[in-house]
Order: sequence, then C-alpha cells, then structure tokens
Amino acid sequence: MAPVIILLGPPGAGKGTQARILEENFGLIQLSTGDLLRAAVSAGTPSGLAAKAVMAAGALVSDEIVLAILKDRMRQPDVAKGIILDGFPRTAGQAAALDQLLAETGQKITAAISLEVDDAAMVGRVAGRHSCAACGEGYHDQFKRPARAGVCDKCGGTEFKRRADDNAETVRDRLAAYHAQTAPLIAYYDSKGVLERIDAMGAIADIRQSLGQIVTGITA
Ligand code: AMP
Repeated sequence: MAPVIILLGPPGAGKGTQARILEENFGLIQLSTGDLLRAAVSAGTPSGLAAKAVMAAGALVSDEIVLAILKDRMRQPDVAKGIILDGFPRTAGQAAALDQLLAETGQKITAAISLEVDDAAMVGRVAGRHSCAACGEGYHDQFKRPARAGVCDKCGGTEFKRRADDNAETVRDRLAAYHAQTAPLIAYYDSKGVLERIDAMGAIADIRQSLGQIVTGITA
C-alpha cells in the first residue's frame, strides 16, 4: 500500500522544507494545502477569493474549501506513489474527513509525524524565509542562504518571493490557530497508534536524518 504520511507542526517547524526533501528522497508526492490555496488565490478562483482574507489574517480557511481543493488534488494519478500531507489536516473535522477519504480508497495513514519545536523560535524562523520564484526552493535570511548571494542553488534563478503572511504579527495569529485547532490532532493520532515525534529544533540536515530514518522504517 502506498504510504500516507502526515507532517504535523506549527508554522516554522519545517514541514514544507522536509516534505520537499522526502519527495526527492523517497519519490513521494508533497501535498501542501497552503500551496494549493496560494495557487487558488493567484488564479482568482472562487475558493481563492474566499480564502484570501482569511489567510492574510493568519486564521484557518473553512474545512469545506480546504477539503474541496485537497480532494481535487487527490484525484491526480501521481498520488498513487504515496503522499506527504504538509499542513493538512489542521482541524478535527479535516482529520475525520481524511480518515473517510482514505477508507473509501482502501488506504490508511502510515504515520503522523509531529515536528516538535519551541514556539518562541518560530516567529524568527518564519519571518526570514523566502523561496526561489522559479523552482520554489526555500531559503532563510539567517539559516539557509544561497551559496552565491541572490542566485538559487538549485536552478540558478535570481528572483525570490516572500509570502504575504510571513510577517511577525500574522505568525503569532497562525501559532495561536495551530495551538487551538491543530495541536489536539497529536493526541488523536497517538490514540490511533500512528504517531511519531521528532525534535525539530536542530539543523535542517539533522531533522532530515531523523525523519529519513522513520520514513525508511515505514516504507521498507
Ligand atoms: P501554510 O502554507 O501551511 O503555512 O498555510 C498558509 C495558510 O493557508 C494558513 O495560515 C491558513 O490560512 C491556510 N491553510 C493551509 N492549510 C490549511 C488547512 N488544512 N486548513 C485551513 N487553512 C489552511
């Protein structure tokens, strides 16, 4: 059965960075509801128009919209390789809907991996991040600069973008939303026997190694 891996953790924990690494190393598909929503906002779809202000305020978009875009993405054939859910589920309702969606297709959650971090460090982690406009490779003003200033290590691109919601004030609201609505899912997945916890305060390479060991174990 193709793996279904959930990455849990507050904004800044490194879910997106690590999901991209897992995608490259294990051939899994990263499904980021944040990326899907940002694409909908840019395309000006009805879901994007409804989500835009909510995202800018650092609150959670309705389960209805998020589930619709996720289900749409799950209809693409590439997800048969196995998926890493990055930023989904974020509410009890989304977790229940995911269980149902997987049951309908005879799948189940392989692991929910909680990236454990100190909140206090998250504002700084999020506020400095940016990504290559061409290939999406992530960077950080302090923790991960390109080898040559202003040039993407991966594709040589020279344009970088910053997310509108990656500012200190919105990050605090996003952290509050995480604690109120998403953190309870850690206990939910623990009770289902699929929870793994890793210390995600260290360097990207160290977290990559801990995560790689877990994923090797569950995909072997
Ligand atoms: P992210 O890229 O995961 O940090 O998500 C950015 C923003 O998109 C969040 O602050 C929410 O406004 C929205 N969002 C992303 N995923 C979800 C989700 N699963 N449920 C509700 N809102 C979401």
